[in-house]
Amino acid sequence: MKAAIFHEHGDASVLRIEDVPPPVAAPGEVLVRVKAAALNHLDIWTRNGLPMEITMPHIGGSDVAGVVEELGDGVTGVQVGARVVINPSLSCGQCEWCRAGEAPLCVDYKILGEHTNGGFAELVAVPAMNLFPIPADFPFEHAAAAPLAYLTAWRALTTRGRLRSGNTVLITGASGGVATAAIQIAKHLQATVYALTTRENIERVRTLGADVVYDRNEGDFSKRIWEDTNKRGVDVVLDSVGEAIWKHCVRALARGGRLVSYGGTTGPKAELDIRVLFWKQIEVLGSTMSNRIEFEEVMRLVFSGALKPVVDTVMKLDDIRAAHERLERGQQFGKIVVTP
Ligand code: ZN
Repeated sequence: MKAAIFHEHGDASVLRIEDVPPPVAAPGEVLVRVKAAALNHLDIWTRNGLPMEITMPHIGGSDVAGVVEELGDGVTGVQVGARVVINPSLSCGQCEWCRAGEAPLCVDYKILGEHTNGGFAELVAVPAMNLFPIPADFPFEHAAAAPLAYLTAWRALTTRGRLRSGNTVLITGASGGVATAAIQIAKHLQATVYALTTRENIERVRTLGADVVYDRNEGDFSKRIWEDTNKRGVDVVLDSVGEAIWKHCVRALARGGRLVSYGGTTGPKAELDIRVLFWKQIEVLGSTMSNRIEFEEVMRLVFSGALKPVVDTVMKLDDIRAAHERLERGQQFGKIVVTP
């Protein structure tokens, strides 16, 4: 089969289109013929080299939609030919956290296309329980654009941040994949959305539904939040920017507010004034990926049209280098999707 593969870490030039042996569906797995796969920053980090080792050569691609091609031994309840989107969470199914239904806390947690070969190929093998059906009239390109960003945003805002109707939320880095999903989810939950982004993305972030959008280069946003909320602050801050804006994120919180972190792109260290922590009774929460129930909840909202993944461009798998470069340069707004 054709695959976008790399044999060593490095820039986009390490990516090659090669003919490789197709994967085999192990017991409990299915083989899916890929119709569309979307890029994530995770694909760039995996290609550049993560702190942990990956098996080489490697095929990336965590967000995948396609058609069931073949069933491994013991798979029931799945039809060959079914249109499916894949939950990229891979877990052991045995540990204490898996048994409690919390796959993203699994001691052996893996992400499709990061720790295993993914969907930038004609075929991919995944556990049958990771499949979710796509409605007949829903395009593969839009289905593939959703999983990783939407499931991450859904768990972070609903399960972890406990965002409710009537709440206020600040979403930083608002043009990113998870953040744009989060803006739509927060509006769907009837929250008031404050967003922080770069000047060139302000209009687009507003179009997604954000009520108030701040230019991240224009002064201290926590002061503006303070003014715009009548010195109350927001109930939830959703952040992946990390170190550079951490103290402003804490300052933007209302009493009893929750700061939910799902990344730290500007750096890993943060300071917290313990007096603020207990006196304002704030919570600092981490979130990553989602469990299966959260994945299915949010995909149902995508397929019903309540949430609409933004597709930036659809490119051919053959142009995988150009796709990586576009994402690395930050030229996209929404998902870059490739088709075999
Ligand atoms: Zn486990």
